[in-house]
Amino acid sequence: MHNPYGLKDGKLLTASEVDRGLACNCTCPACEHRLQSHQGQKRAPYFSHYQGSDCGAGYETALHLLAKEVLLKEMKILLPELKVTSDASIAFTGTQLEEKTLVKPWQQITVDSVTLEKRIGKIIPDVIVKKGKRVLLVEIKVTHGIDSEKLAYIQEKNLNVIEYDFSKSIGIVDKKHITKVLTNTYKGAKKGFGRGQWINHYLMQETIEELNQVYISKNPRDLSKKPKKAIPYAYKPYR
Ligand SMILES: [Zn+2]
Repeated sequence: MHNPYGLKDGKLLTASEVDRGLACNCTCPACEHRLQSHQGQKRAPYFSHYQGSDCGAGYETALHLLAKEVLLKEMKILLPELKVTSDASIAFTGTQLEEKTLVKPWQQITVDSVTLEKRIGKIIPDVIVKKGKRVLLVEIKVTHGIDSEKLAYIQEKNLNVIEYDFSKSIGIVDKKHITKVLTNTYKGAKKGFGRGQWINHYLMQETIEELNQVYISKNPRDLSKKPKKAIPYAYKPYR
């Protein structure tokens, strides 16, 4: 994916807002390499790394910066809906027999602080927001989602993590688009398209276990059946 964003005097600019070529005086938001802008007729303006191979992270880092800017300005975030189900009922019967809503749809919360890419233990979340004692990690997906190592750490430490997916967005993802996805209603948005998804919620695992207990107590005989499939988590971040 071509990177449309360059950094100039600490500000993010698109390739169409700057002078052509090296005269743009921009650097890569990720690796600080000097950039040159390309403004041809055929494709949307973009930046490339001058005399060097592209680090490939410019666009992604630019979106992290924009997400932080947006959250700092708005000081609120739209939480995606979160329903969990008994994974035992899915394993034994193939259906979701017990279900609980942990986060209602359209829930918008105000936040107290917003921090960019600060290390938490083994991982570096894209953006960290805090509300009182609660910490929420915001992941911005452009090309790469959360890898298995990061996911394992998130689940081990039981961190609150939402991933906002911009990988299917058409055209340049700008501040307006990010603002919409991160803070406003996603009504009308297609399922799974450009909106948040819970990767983990601090109550998720214990609620699944509670629901499993409810399911087993109602259907004790199911335990002697052979499970149809094994599902470690009722909620699957990657569909
Ligand atoms: Zn770079």
